[in-house]
Amino acid sequence: MTVSIEKLLNIGGLEVEDLEIGEQRITIRAKISSNFTKCHKCGKKATEYYSDGETVELRHLPICERPVYIYLRTKRYRCQNCEDGPTTTQHGDWYDLAAHCTKAYAKSLLREMVGSTLAEVARKQEINYGILRGLLEREVSEGVDWRELTQLRVLGLDEISLLKGHQDFVTVVSSRDDLGRPVILGVLEGREKETVKAFLQSIPEHLRATVEQVCTEMYKGFTNAVAEVLPAARVVADRFHVAKGYRAALDELRKTEMHNLKAALKPDEYAGLKGVIWALRRNHQDLTDEELQLLDLLFECSPVLRRGYQLREKLTDIFETAHTKQSAERALRRWMAEVRSTGLTCFDSFLITLENWMDQITNYFLSRLTSGWVEGLNNKIKVIKRRCYGIPNPVTLFRRLWLDLNGLDAFAA
Ligand SMILES: [Zn+2]
Repeated sequence: MTVSIEKLLNIGGLEVEDLEIGEQRITIRAKISSNFTKCHKCGKKATEYYSDGETVELRHLPICERPVYIYLRTKRYRCQNCEDGPTTTQHGDWYDLAAHCTKAYAKSLLREMVGSTLAEVARKQEINYGILRGLLEREVSEGVDWRELTQLRVLGLDEISLLKGHQDFVTVVSSRDDLGRPVILGVLEGREKETVKAFLQSIPEHLRATVEQVCTEMYKGFTNAVAEVLPAARVVADRFHVAKGYRAALDELRKTEMHNLKAALKPDEYAGLKGVIWALRRNHQDLTDEELQLLDLLFECSPVLRRGYQLREKLTDIFETAHTKQSAERALRRWMAEVRSTGLTCFDSFLITLENWMDQITNYFLSRLTSGWVEGLNNKIKVIKRRCYGIPNPVTLFRRLWLDLNGLDAFAA
């Protein structure tokens, strides 16, 4: 049986001259089989042999886990069409000279980078980090290709801090496809209204017209930009952010109360409350019997915390209920009145938020749009942040996110 190494390598236009199968690597010496090249000046066939060109080292897909290196001999040809007879070195469209590898191998590297760090891939593949970064920059564009989208329907606007302590914000603009998977549209520097507005304006008109809803945090910079560029879109305050607001209010109350209890209770009594933080944070229906007992004990010591906790759960229930926009507003206003009647102050600033954003918050009940897909994106961003050296710039963040979301399809073998 004759086995063709060319067939195994699956590279058209390659002629293998020598093959060396070592323990550590497979070395192939080869040349481009054609006897001409495309003139770099006129684009026509240059057929007159001029000289040997350089030999290029190209990494290719491994065979039986052994890395494959192709040493490709090239030739220079002179153009007889151009008057000054310029010469051009042969080049195959199946390799990426800058990355020193075949395009098939480059694709496999890009797939490896999905969900992984460049440093990890560099180590596993024993390849230079700079080559990987170069591939990422050449193969993944720095912004969304609007031509790939036919409609947007929902948009998500979210600000993310790249540094601990709420610094270095970027704005993440996203959408979701028909299957609910996130689509990254942009990572913008900062969170200024003008920046967001300019981005929204960069969406082609026919796509802009398809935006029905925008799920956003309660931040004027975002909502005003949306109102100006997408006046027909319904703005929905993101339920996760609303919940964050009132849950944080209870956390504050818990801190004060625990502080007071520490002073009032005997040390062993106070120690009996260990674990209440987690029990308080979880949703009531998810609690175990022990956690319920623990909360009972806590609430006996602190009736005020019981009241706050009940109010928090009651508010969550409102969001869980199938309200109309109007009945939701009535339920929320009843809740607000109840909070005020208790004299509890921990919800004070949240009450103001509710008042200011009532329209956008109750818009949630019209279609129950949540930005679940944004949460998924945020988790990816967290991982990317952890894996980056230093702070990723918005463009890098966009590329990494895009690759994580689309890489396996875009660079399929
Ligand atoms: Zn020419």
